[in-house]
Amino acid sequence: MGDFIPTVPIELQIRKIIFEKFNNVDSKFSNDDVFEIIKKNGDINPSWIIDDLESFFNELCASGLARNIAQNFTTIWMKLFEPIEKLRCNSCNLEIYLGTTEDRVCPNPSCKSSI
Ligand SMILES: [Zn+2]
Repeated sequence: MGDFIPTVPIELQIRKIIFEKFNNVDSKFSNDDVFEIIKKNGDINPSWIIDDLESFFNELCASGLARNIAQNFTTIWMKLFEPIEKLRCNSCNLEIYLGTTEDRVCPNPSCKSSI
């Protein structure tokens, strides 16, 4: 299998799904929930399994957007610290999603511009 390059970086796909489906600080969501939607959307290497996304979810927690509230084998349950808002990055021209008090830096890993 060749290298699969998603059209939209996985970081942004994850944030978009949380924004659209789980943008509520009172409810929890899991990496499995998000992964199922990413797979359905089809913009991901089809050979990837949930473990391949672990670092992306750890990054969400490290950035202060979400916190890990429970873990059961490969399932990580998270809650948002704050609502997510949709913005547009003028550098990479992609829709991006940031927590309301999160650092104003583009979460696109190949951009990282100030917003
Ligand atoms: Zn950007």
